[in-house]
Amino acid sequence: MSVKVLLEDGIARHAEHLANGDYSALELTQACLNEIEARDGVIGAFLTVDAEGARRTAEESDKRRAAGKSLGALDGIPFALKDNICAKGLRLTCGSRILERYITPYDATVTARLRAAGAVLIGKTNMDEFAMGSSTEYSALGLTRNPHDPARVAGGSSGGSAAAVAAGEAVFSLGTDTGGSVRQPAAFCGVYGLKPTYGALSRYGVAAMATSLDCVGIMARSAADCATVFSALAGRDALDATSVDYPLDAWTAAMRDTGFPTRVAIVRELSGDRISPAVRRAVETVADVLRAHGACIEEVSLPMPEQALASYTVLSCAEASSNLARYDGVRYGRRSERIDGVASLYDNSRAEGFGEEVKRRILFGTDLLTRENRERYYVRAQRVRELIRERILTLTASYDLILTPTTPTTAFLRGVERSPEALYAADLCTVYASLSGVPALSIPVGRDADGLPIAVQLTARPVSEGLLLRTAMLLEEAMG
Ligand code: GLN
Repeated sequence: MSVKVLLEDGIARHAEHLANGDYSALELTQACLNEIEARDGVIGAFLTVDAEGARRTAEESDKRRAAGKSLGALDGIPFALKDNICAKGLRLTCGSRILERYITPYDATVTARLRAAGAVLIGKTNMDEFAMGSSTEYSALGLTRNPHDPARVAGGSSGGSAAAVAAGEAVFSLGTDTGGSVRQPAAFCGVYGLKPTYGALSRYGVAAMATSLDCVGIMARSAADCATVFSALAGRDALDATSVDYPLDAWTAAMRDTGFPTRVAIVRELSGDRISPAVRRAVETVADVLRAHGACIEEVSLPMPEQALASYTVLSCAEASSNLARYDGVRYGRRSERIDGVASLYDNSRAEGFGEEVKRRILFGTDLLTRENRERYYVRAQRVRELIRERILTLTASYDLILTPTTPTTAFLRGVERSPEALYAADLCTVYASLSGVPALSIPVGRDADGLPIAVQLTARPVSEGLLLRTAMLLEEAMG
């Protein structure tokens, strides 16, 4: 008897149906492709859909399963990749005109690991150009709408990856998170978003924005799904010098733990007027649930939210200005046709290839690194970062978790003029974990009066992804 593919199902349920022969990986993949066909004209999550490649991979998975050689939970599960993560033979645009026709000759390590686990790559998702933004409106290549309300943004910069999962166009997806780009769109689209510990997931084959902050992150329908994907991806990669040898034993132990966390901090500065009432209430609700299960909740102070944002902005722009120097029309991507020498080759290729926000950040970042400004801004931003990091490490050592909103508001309207500063404020609650290198998880917890998803964020000490995901699972059970 054949069972209808339910795109709301998570990885474990699909794996069970695949194992039972209720449907095949090809049917599951086709169901996602049909959903893309039906909805993505409006949602715009994808920049590239590799229908043929996906069907081929799904068929291989079905053959393996028939031969009793299934590769495990991810074998035959369709996923999407943000378009700054390499997948051999497909375009890698980074949402930019400068890379619009660039085809990658190799797989990122995270892509290769998912393929090795049998997962089926459906396509590449839209993003703010070079991951700079919070709404995916800075993509040069298309528009992404929030599946819960097409008048609203999906968040950013990994807006396409979040929208794809929320719309049932993929079972899970990968994004990147430098200052919040996995957690914030996950929050806006009502899916889970994990930013792991800095270095936990390899960045080999991932286009750099700000090297000291960039992380690959996971978006999925449940905490359990995030955990399955994380286990397939974690582990040192010799191709990425910053990748850490993840303590997988501790991870497994944490995932088995059935107790609620006992000490939870909530943050004074990330409540009050800066946060919308609906989001504030959601944080209180989660705090109540944790308290009801025996946790002791204490209010702590994370001083200087404005300085944290400023430090993030200075450091990420400085690093991005240097990382993006490689797009010069020589080795990668678009080359201007108006060339009469080396200088005009660089100038015109970059002037034509980059969008306004990317140019703003390159100019700002370059200016920050000049001799006159370095001490004044860059070095000071580093000091602020160090203070924040120390504070977060102290707090996460004394508390199991820090509970905050993920975003100050729910998804905002598309197409509204916003100052760069207003958009940067979307990262208010997420930059702390980025600056400190600790893991953080965005958890969807219901809807506001307009039916838009609300989320809270849990932050914890380095390499405590197990604790974060385990707590999220317990909350899922407790809150229904
Ligand atoms: N929204 C943030 C920014 O614009 C975060 C970007 C990111 O995490 N890639 O910088």
